[in-house]
Amino acid sequence: MNIFCVVRNYAPHAVEMKSAPPVEPIFFEKPHTALLVAPTTLHYPEFTQDLQHELELVIRIERTGSHIPLAQAHQYYHSVALGIDLTARDLQRNAKAASMPWLLSKGFDGSAIVSPFVTLESIGKPIDNLSFSLQINRTTVQQANSSDMLFTPSRLISHLSQYITLTAGDLIYTGTPAGVGPIKRGDHLLGTLEGRPLLTFCVI
Ligand code: MG
Repeated sequence: MNIFCVVRNYAPHAVEMKSAPPVEPIFFEKPHTALLVAPTTLHYPEFTQDLQHELELVIRIERTGSHIPLAQAHQYYHSVALGIDLTARDLQRNAKAASMPWLLSKGFDGSAIVSPFVTLESIGKPIDNLSFSLQINRTTVQQANSSDMLFTPSRLISHLSQYITLTAGDLIYTGTPAGVGPIKRGDHLLGTLEGRPLLTFCVI
């Protein structure tokens, strides 16, 4: 099982990271051991002083495919989840400054938090028109709609599969909207998809 993540898939987030919006999708990967299934408790890692949340829609790949045409990509998923691409921003900043890979800042144990999956059929809306938000201690910190993605889920799947064979169970974190920021011990996080509470965890 692979965990693929997309970089800068919402223009306002690219702006807040002082980066240009990409012309084609950019991916990185987390190890499968990064997965942490909510509801859960997150232990604040000892190696960072700047742990940050990135709320993202997560797609689960349902069957094997490579070189998937754009028009067929929708046949490879039927459910979504909310996830947090947890980031040790201080480590990532240092890695970026040194032009080094950022694996440790984004791939550490527990850095890929994911909610239970729900089918698009049960939501009753297309994947490219889903509203979602994140509250920390009841204050909304991120709020977006998947219609604002630079690259749609189908485009991500089609593009990625030109290079890497996708297999059933693979996850794709589709990128964070604007509003990323720090979390600290004692925080309670609640992710909502189409008004439905779906992702919950606390930090100790
Ligand atoms: Mg991210």
